[in-house]
Amino acid sequence: MARRSLARLRNIGIVAHINAGKTTLTERFLFRAGRQSYVGAVDDGTATMDFMPEEQERGISISAAVTSVDWRGFHINVIDTPGHVDFTAEVERSLRVLDGVIVVLDAVRGVESQTEIVWRQVQEHRVPAIVFINKMDRETADFEASLIEVSDRLQCPAVPLVMPLRKGGELVGLCDLIENKVIGAANDDLSVWRPSRQAIVEACADYDESILQDFVEGGDVDADRLHRAVRRATLDGGIVPVLTGSALFNRGLDWLLTAVCRYLPSPLDRPVVSVDGTPVPADEDAPLSALVFKVAFDGDECLHFVRLYSGQLRAGELVRGSRHEGQVHVSSISRLHAAEHEEVEEIGAGDVAAMCADVDLSTGETLYTPGHPVHLESVQFPSPVLTSRLEALLASDYDAMQAAAAKLCREDPTLVLGRDRESGALLVSGMGELHLQVFEERLVHALGREVRLSAPQVLRHETVARPATASAECRRHLDGREYAARVELSVTPRPGTGLATVGDVRVEDDVAAAMIRRLLLAQLRAGMSGPHAAYDLSVDVTAASGDLGTGSDGVSAEAVVGEALAIGCRRLVSEVSVTLEPYVDCVVSCPADTLSGALADLRSRGVDIADVHNDDDRGQVRGELALSRVLGYATKLRSLTRGLGSVHLRPVGLRPVVDKG
Ligand code: GDP
Ligand code: MG
Repeated sequence: MARRSLARLRNIGIVAHINAGKTTLTERFLFRAGRQSYVGAVDDGTATMDFMPEEQERGISISAAVTSVDWRGFHINVIDTPGHVDFTAEVERSLRVLDGVIVVLDAVRGVESQTEIVWRQVQEHRVPAIVFINKMDRETADFEASLIEVSDRLQCPAVPLVMPLRKGGELVGLCDLIENKVIGAANDDLSVWRPSRQAIVEACADYDESILQDFVEGGDVDADRLHRAVRRATLDGGIVPVLTGSALFNRGLDWLLTAVCRYLPSPLDRPVVSVDGTPVPADEDAPLSALVFKVAFDGDECLHFVRLYSGQLRAGELVRGSRHEGQVHVSSISRLHAAEHEEVEEIGAGDVAAMCADVDLSTGETLYTPGHPVHLESVQFPSPVLTSRLEALLASDYDAMQAAAAKLCREDPTLVLGRDRESGALLVSGMGELHLQVFEERLVHALGREVRLSAPQVLRHETVARPATASAECRRHLDGREYAARVELSVTPRPGTGLATVGDVRVEDDVAAAMIRRLLLAQLRAGMSGPHAAYDLSVDVTAASGDLGTGSDGVSAEAVVGEALAIGCRRLVSEVSVTLEPYVDCVVSCPADTLSGALADLRSRGVDIADVHNDDDRGQVRGELALSRVLGYATKLRSLTRGLGSVHLRPVGLRPVVDKG
């Protein structure tokens, strides 16, 4: 793609709370832009973007789907993301490679809990955004209230560019405030609706002083000048344009697509640097740099979703991968349209596509031209919070089950396979109950046979309350000779660092030091005093002596050193160990008359309440509590609220286990 058309390329995501209308909106885009001759509907399971059977059955998006549309000379790659918090990793990795987003709101429900979460993610990735207030057709839709919530709850510099025209509870049209155009309303006399550009002019004043001056002097500011200023302000984060309409009834979507082209950045507007700070130019003629942001299997074929930052990627060429020793052969490249892919010869800087290769690449890996190494920042994922035991019903299915499970875990880095240290059983860990349920369904679907997944348990971790030191010695007879190893260890709390790390290893011999480092890290992962992985701490080996390597007789002292480290770790934490468990932020919404029952139940689970409110017919409670206390809660809530309550749980980190009793 030549440089000029790069300016006309958009990589955008659609993010929001579940049910806001993201998938409906994407389907409409496909139809409006002539990509598809019918409109897929979420409600009858025909949405192109929700193509997994698990998505069509549940009517929700689970996996981020990629497609593209051409709109008035622009090419727009669109990623429709899932809204449920259990699939937040899909949002995270999409945001990592996107240049802009549309945040969708339901005009009746306003800013919902998951909207706040994705908004935080959008800000962390500094991705310019447009807000679309959807469902304006609904009788109780409230544009002003939604707008106030966007400004207050999201702390977002929202500026409306489109205003809804409503009569009674009905949407009769929309008004474009910059162009002074009305669509839909039978009476399109603007004076009836009194639209005002003032908010736009004021917001743009910081980006083009002359606009405010002209406005104050009563002069007319031409639309193009405003568009340019809004674009500059949006890219800078000074403005978040707000549009509105209805995805289901196709109101305001052409304007939304046009706004994406007008105000959201092209790859040229989003300069990228590598991990070591070298600029990566959005230039086709530069060497290749691309990021693998998602891995998905299509049958046995492994698709690697890539975003190109510079250079070109061609089918048949040899490239390098940052996590691979040898070369990577690119066997094919395809453009994506949800479940379909169309093979192409090459793609250029700024674009998004899927590729097949002769090796397994992983999410977060950088691809580059041999001789021109680059390392792009990887994708960060949260750690799993729940774990279940996975069993095959027939012993003969075990290997196939394990292979299928491993495939699903390669696709989703927040699903982790492990093994129980004592029983050797296969364990799968994930982000929540729905996440594990969907994993089970997908596994059964892939295998064609039932599997048994135990009720999930929360994943605990171990940390230390303060620094400590310990020493340990181990003696053992191996092949007729006595071997001995002695280690001195010290532990330091490191809040906020996640899984424990090995710090200094003060041992002269490099080979011995590497072995100690490896054994100690394995011990920290397996647990220092119990079965829980060590967390938020680091351990130094301040001294080690005795048999630390391979003796002249060829016998390795590894087992002896490992035992000394295990004893040392146990002693190290014996006085200072703290067990941690995951906590969640919990938002329960239910009919007002069931609020007191729901509240009493939450209190019995030890909730720390942050906020309760009760307006007219619905009540809402928000608070924090241990995840272990709300397993299976959705079912209980249904029975407490005549099936009308909903709950959203968002992991907020690990806290010390509180002993009851
Ligand atoms: P997602 O979870 O954000 O992808 O939302 P969906 O696209 O699956 O839509 C959720 C529900 O809202 C479906 O029943 C849609 O038909 C409905 N919906 C979507 N957009 C609109 C709209 O503009 N107006 C109304 N009334 N309903 C809508
Ligand atoms: Mg969806």
